[in-house]
Amino acid sequence: MKPLSIQGIKWDEKSSFQRGPRLAPPLIREAFFCPSANLSAENGQPIEVSLLDDKGDFEIEDYFEIERVTRSHLEDDTKILTLGGDHSITFPIIKAYHERYPKLEILQIDAHSDLYDEFEGDRYSHACPFARIMENGLAVRLVQVGIRTLNPHQNLQAERFGVEIHQMKDLNLGAIGTFENPLYISLDLDGIDPAFAPGVSHHEPGGLTSRQVIELIQNIDAEIVGADIVEYNPERDFKGMTAYLAAKLMKELLSKMMT
Ligand code: MN
Ligand code: MN
Repeated sequence: MKPLSIQGIKWDEKSSFQRGPRLAPPLIREAFFCPSANLSAENGQPIEVSLLDDKGDFEIEDYFEIERVTRSHLEDDTKILTLGGDHSITFPIIKAYHERYPKLEILQIDAHSDLYDEFEGDRYSHACPFARIMENGLAVRLVQVGIRTLNPHQNLQAERFGVEIHQMKDLNLGAIGTFENPLYISLDLDGIDPAFAPGVSHHEPGGLTSRQVIELIQNIDAEIVGADIVEYNPERDFKGMTAYLAAKLMKELLSKMMT
């Protein structure tokens, strides 16, 4: 296994509907280390805790601090798994990643395509990060899975940026294909059905099962150089079940990133 850094980003200023994701990082970490489960991922690979360089949680005052924090951690020359935070954090993270990985591909798991040009007057809203990433040329390819909220504006944006969208209504996990370049995975927990992940701000029924997301992650055959788990809202959770799901998916992601 190879070393890897973890950073928590306590930030939900760009949430459009409810606050809460700033509280998420320590709770996901607590679920991850909870003795109720072991640290083996489903590929049989136990996560070696001694190889995790946990940078801790960062209280963010200004949006672009997220870029500076990420850049400083990338200087260690390790991959980073980020615990969010609302989904707006992915744009500044990818800004930092782009300097190191000019040919980055992104896999986004989400109920929403987050491609709004602006949302309620804010171009950095959590509804906009992938519009900012694509118009700045920070990724060579964006693949979205789990989408079930497209509207005419976001359809146009997807066309404009050449986004590959696998909508829930015609999902075929086998059709997602392979990635040729370094891959970043952005996991918005609301991509998963609220029956499995109630602890999110935007309940959007008809989503992915926990099993489908594990399968999606484990079947990836590419170098995963970074990932984030975003939009966990503890104030909406039920008995911590979404924290445990986030921790489980963190284990699956780490097993793929560290090998
Ligand atoms: Mn999102
Ligand atoms: Mn979402």
